[in-house]
Amino acid sequence: MKSRWNDKDAARYVEAARTLGQSEALGLRIYTSRIIGGDPDLVLHGGGNTSVKVRSADGEALMHIKGSGWDLDTIEAPGLPAVRLAPLLDVRNGTKLSDPDMVALLRANLIEADAPNPSVEALLHAFLPFAFVDHTHATAILALADQPDMREAIQRIYGDRLAYVPYVMPGFDLSIVADRIYRKHTGCQGLWLENHGLFTFADDARTSYELMIEFVTMAEAELARAGVTLSGPQPSDGEEEVALRARLEKALMRDGSPFAKGVFLDYRSTAAIREHAAKENVEEIGLRGTVTPDHVIRIKPWPMIVAADADEAAIEAALAAYAERYHAYFTRNAARSSEPKHMLDVYPRVVLVRGKGTYALGANTKAARIGGDLCEQATRAINAAEAYGRFTPISESDLFDMEYWALEQAKLKVAAQ
Ligand code: ZN
Repeated sequence: MKSRWNDKDAARYVEAARTLGQSEALGLRIYTSRIIGGDPDLVLHGGGNTSVKVRSADGEALMHIKGSGWDLDTIEAPGLPAVRLAPLLDVRNGTKLSDPDMVALLRANLIEADAPNPSVEALLHAFLPFAFVDHTHATAILALADQPDMREAIQRIYGDRLAYVPYVMPGFDLSIVADRIYRKHTGCQGLWLENHGLFTFADDARTSYELMIEFVTMAEAELARAGVTLSGPQPSDGEEEVALRARLEKALMRDGSPFAKGVFLDYRSTAAIREHAAKENVEEIGLRGTVTPDHVIRIKPWPMIVAADADEAAIEAALAAYAERYHAYFTRNAARSSEPKHMLDVYPRVVLVRGKGTYALGANTKAARIGGDLCEQATRAINAAEAYGRFTPISESDLFDMEYWALEQAKLKVAAQ
């Protein structure tokens, strides 16, 4: 992976920040966030997050952190709201916070009361004692992060430059665990998050960004060493079964479906998707889960799988089987939860057509396109992970905890009111 850093562009962002009365650091933070966001093999659609610690005019320590609802490739200053740092640091040795309490703490310390919610990874950023912190879900990193037992391999590849963080769900608990691990490895330049992604940090924007690029390049080299080809984003050039699309649309728009009022299907048939869709065990691989935890919120834990010539009856049967599996997954996992969970709909967000391609489903074109982009990247990561060893993402219970996270469920309750 190549660095997209360019001195002239960086200077332009610094100048623009100055003109607007913002700090030079914030200008550089916007610049490197955008060049991270510009590479689909680093982050996609709201994935990843970045921060910078600064001092206010009267000397108070603040952190600008990515706000929810913003994408890194188009981020602007309002997408990096400032929070007071000291109250955030206070909680690192205090009692456990629930995730809704953590969000309340972050909101209470926003400098602008109407700013977007700071990223749920804000505390992790706050605890790291560096001005710049960068976090991505890079494709090459995911191919290696979704493997069983990578601790030794990561040590072999990165030595002490990265500290290994076992999987913990994003939110308060991850920030505490990652902080403890960082403090035991204070010489490290980044954190390897099992089944999730990578953090890098430094006191200047360029170093933190270029460490990210360097570590992703090292992951690419490790895949190549093992004889694994990780292709870049590919064009969708395969044929579509137009009759199948019509049958899927009809089936998905039935009464009681979340798509009753309309469904948008984003079809992709890239070389990598066809390779994956042709695997004999594609269903078993698909059932293992998503390449990084937050994908589950957009594309559910697994795809629905149909044959290219599936008729109406076959599609109905696949939908019924999907609903049954999803219901069982919900019941199994909700039973161990301390608070009541409200089941989401039992419909897939991705339909994989054997040997051919994938449909990402959305209630509008944007949602479908985002789903399609996630499938495109995820499939390349899965192919590489399978070629390297065995694609092994987070467990079913961790997928459930992410999909049924208190914060996501709270949003649903608000929407239902
Ligand atoms: Zn993340």
